[in-house]
Amino acid sequence: MSEKKNPPPSKFETPEVSNFLRQIIDADIASGKHANRLDASGQALPSVITRFPPEPNGYLHIGHAKSICLNFGLARDYANAPHGARCHMRFDDTNPSKEETEYVDSIIDAVRWLGFDWIQNGVEHQHYASDYFDQLYAFAEKLIEAGKAYVDSQSADEIHKNRGNFTQLGTNSPFRNRSPEENLTLFREMKAGKHPDGAHVLRLKIDMSHPNIVLRDPVVYRIRHAHHHRTGDKWCIYPLYDFTHCISDALENITHSICTLEFENNRPLYDWVLEALKEVGVFKDPLPKQYEFARLNLTYAITSKRKLLQLVEEKRVDGWDDPRMPTIVGIRRRGFTPESIRLFCERIGVSKADSWIDMSILEQALRDDLEEKAQRAFAVLQPLKLIIDNFDESAEEPCSAPKHPHHEEWGRREFNLTKELWIEADDFMKEPIKGFFRLYPPINGEPGSRVRLRHGFVIECTGFDQDANGQVTAVHAKYFADSKSGTPDSNNYKVKGNLHWISAKHAIAAEVRVYDRLFTDPHPDSGDKNFLDAMNPQSKKVLSAFVEPSLSQVAPEQRFQFERHGYFVADRIDHTASRPVFNLCVGLKDNWK
Ligand code: ATP
Ligand code: MG
Repeated sequence: MSEKKNPPPSKFETPEVSNFLRQIIDADIASGKHANRLDASGQALPSVITRFPPEPNGYLHIGHAKSICLNFGLARDYANAPHGARCHMRFDDTNPSKEETEYVDSIIDAVRWLGFDWIQNGVEHQHYASDYFDQLYAFAEKLIEAGKAYVDSQSADEIHKNRGNFTQLGTNSPFRNRSPEENLTLFREMKAGKHPDGAHVLRLKIDMSHPNIVLRDPVVYRIRHAHHHRTGDKWCIYPLYDFTHCISDALENITHSICTLEFENNRPLYDWVLEALKEVGVFKDPLPKQYEFARLNLTYAITSKRKLLQLVEEKRVDGWDDPRMPTIVGIRRRGFTPESIRLFCERIGVSKADSWIDMSILEQALRDDLEEKAQRAFAVLQPLKLIIDNFDESAEEPCSAPKHPHHEEWGRREFNLTKELWIEADDFMKEPIKGFFRLYPPINGEPGSRVRLRHGFVIECTGFDQDANGQVTAVHAKYFADSKSGTPDSNNYKVKGNLHWISAKHAIAAEVRVYDRLFTDPHPDSGDKNFLDAMNPQSKKVLSAFVEPSLSQVAPEQRFQFERHGYFVADRIDHTASRPVFNLCVGLKDNWK
């Protein structure tokens, strides 16, 4: 396995910007809290170990990207802390029936694509909560023996009812005072498959009248006769999140366990379990600590796994990787770069206050990244024929343009100007409106407009053809032979319009998918709104376009700025050299303001 380094920050990224988590980590490093830890083989452990713990029950989305960039980003930025830093990839796969290998693979792909890895000193730190089932079980027995856990045989309904609520204290289960021996016997029977689903659960013995409901004797194991994607049929009892997560963190020597704010109430339970296991001699200080940050809420998007699944299942989008989806596979297919996502996450920062981030911030991060990186090209998205009547039928005028205006060293694109060209249909108006400086025909004895064909000649519009419906079928023009771009006389021509074009003879036909936001409402699922009502009917248009001949050998995922249009990417799945397909990543300007 080759050792990969997590990416250095891009030129826009500002790793020095502090946040409350960095302040906590800085203080922990300064106090040496995690400086003297050894792993089982006596090796010094890093001062900073974070983890990204997705449940493999769906595709990752842009919200997860925030968590990924945060956790892996901290490991990257604290690489010089005593004994380094690392971030573990951990699959939280305790729920047997919901998890699938397909999701595991897609999550690994997504995190790698974002530019991160979980290798330190050649060792891979990829874990599964299910790898800890034996230990979790043994620890549960220890808690039973210490009188800190008991088997409850109430029904799920009774447990729910007796837990109380915000205004009402809970009631002790009639089974709460079972002896450790009885509990142990029952728990072993549960494990051995002697009881059906729901017959018993294991609960922590904390306090049924605790003001924090989470601490009212939480259930930590339940019976589920179900197949697990990794452990098969070995287990018929499965541990729950609140028990599994903190123990997994402790077993992996996590220092800072970072999660979203909705787990704030669970933090006392996280600490309770680890303290209890410390008391029975399983763990020792320093125990991992949980810290919460505000989740990403993005306007014009939804990030609920359930609703995303609904869009896919009801075929309202073209699958998980539809370029309009906020999934990582979707935004990748849309043409977002890993750098742009990392830049976005740096810009939005990390805080403890819930807020909304505008979609335009995500889109601007992509523009800022691609502006310097994307080669320029001509594409005519809504083609209209332009005929230069005084241009020789067989003539080919070589023209060229820089691949990037700031990178002459990238070289030039070559293309020929010929008698018949494709231009953009909306660059012509039969009857120009005020302020329209592109092509229009002679009117009222005035000559037609003059424009420059970029990197070519100045032309003057002389007329147009139309069909029986008044639909324009071709525009006619004459060109000025001494007006070629780059020649001394070209300066004699002052024009206000500057159009892109492609020789009809050399143009490459391409399918161009013009995407827009999936929702027209910035908060499609807030309140009691049905997010399906806010779907943008204009979010996908498929155009039969032409691209310039220099794009004959484009690889999937290659990105371009199509001049005057925006940034486009050769579709990762459907694009081939013989059948080119480009997706709009983002326009040149924000049209949603
Ligand atoms: P589920 O409801 O299935 O638990 P989830 O969105 O919490 O969905 P997980 O796979 O548990 O999905 O999430 C993995 C990690 O990503 C968690 O640490 C979670 O806090 C974080 N995460 C999920 N959604 C967001 C978000 N919108 N912003 C920031 N972090 C998020
Ligand atoms: Mg979750």
